[in-house]
Amino acid sequence: MAAQDGVGPTVEIPGILHLDMDAFFASVEVRDHPELRGLPVVVGGAGTRGVVAAASYPARTRGIRSAMPMASARRLAPDLVIVPPRIARYQETSALVMELLSSVVADIEQISIDEAFLDVRGARRLFGGPDQIASLLRSRIRDELGLPSSVGGSVSRAVAKIASARAKPDGQLIIPAEQTAEFLAPLPVSAVSGIGPKAVASLERIGVRTIGQIREIPPSTLARALGPRAPEIIHLATGSDRTGLGHRVRDKSLGTERTWDEDLTDADEVRRRITSMADDVARQLRRSDAVARTVVLKLRSPDGTTITRSSTLDQPTSSGERLREQVVALWDKERHRLRRIRLAGVRVTHLTAESTSAVQQELTSRSALWRDLETAMDRATDRFGTASLSRGSTLGPAADGAQRSASSRDPEDDRDARDGSGL
Ligand SMILES: [Mg+2]
Repeated sequence: MAAQDGVGPTVEIPGILHLDMDAFFASVEVRDHPELRGLPVVVGGAGTRGVVAAASYPARTRGIRSAMPMASARRLAPDLVIVPPRIARYQETSALVMELLSSVVADIEQISIDEAFLDVRGARRLFGGPDQIASLLRSRIRDELGLPSSVGGSVSRAVAKIASARAKPDGQLIIPAEQTAEFLAPLPVSAVSGIGPKAVASLERIGVRTIGQIREIPPSTLARALGPRAPEIIHLATGSDRTGLGHRVRDKSLGTERTWDEDLTDADEVRRRITSMADDVARQLRRSDAVARTVVLKLRSPDGTTITRSSTLDQPTSSGERLREQVVALWDKERHRLRRIRLAGVRVTHLTAESTSAVQQELTSRSALWRDLETAMDRATDRFGTASLSRGSTLGPAADGAQRSASSRDPEDDRDARDGSGL
């Protein structure tokens, strides 16, 4: 092809990499306790209501998955090793991973404790193409931190994330631009992280199961099935998103500010002005396809006294209503301090591109996992003191399990025991 011998048109480089650590928490535990290598190890609460937070690959081959109740995991693998979570250790390891990535690639966006997007289009001259950079990163993480990771690469963030999932464990998969459609076509629509269960169900109703089928359906049919999210979903599913890394947008802020010739002295008037400013800012956000997490209200009185207050939302937004709520709440808290207003301003900061809000949602659900983990850890500490590591079968709740499998003739237990004995 002309493009490949350097005289043709420039080929788009699949330089957006998604690096994801493999079974991160479990891998850290196995690294720190080498005697666990090759065993079905899970991290999570050992109590009767415990949940699997992470499962090693030997545990996964037995059918154990994260978010599974610990009791089910124990049935699948009677020799299961349950390790209570050590959040601080994972955070510290995560920081080392991110530091290593930043030492090679300048443009990185961490999206969770064990994942980051990297834009390596600018790093090529130094380290080669995306494939070489991916191997370099993975081998350095392996050598210096003793941990496995996988990398996906594409021209699109959404596709890079799918590719890293397909590369697991301990692999890499870079999709050349011209092979994007071919790569995506056979995959189920649920492989795209921005396509949630609701959209999957809507697509199923019109007979669409694979990403390839999305392209064959008339856009009007898709629009009817998916509603206002149709364009976004088509965008993600066809690998046509070209969103760079979020921090490029995130560092920006936008807003509006006004000074009045005559001071505002009426609280309702101030409220009316700042809510209309909030609407204005929301419109600016939507025009830039961005969402914001932090709202800042600034007020100044004629004597120069300035008050700046901010509030941070759970979910990034571009909704005027959400911004109005926030500025009004801030105003209500501060209004007694300023009797006359000369200047008011509304700004939003911590901006992200709207198409990365799916990632934000995922981050939020991860923070829920985080809470669960901490609760699990508290429970483990309550029950077992500071015991950091024990064989599942020697712990209290597992003793229940042992009893159950000795006395129970539940056909499901028998089936699981058979499956489990295969390894
Ligand atoms: Mg991971």
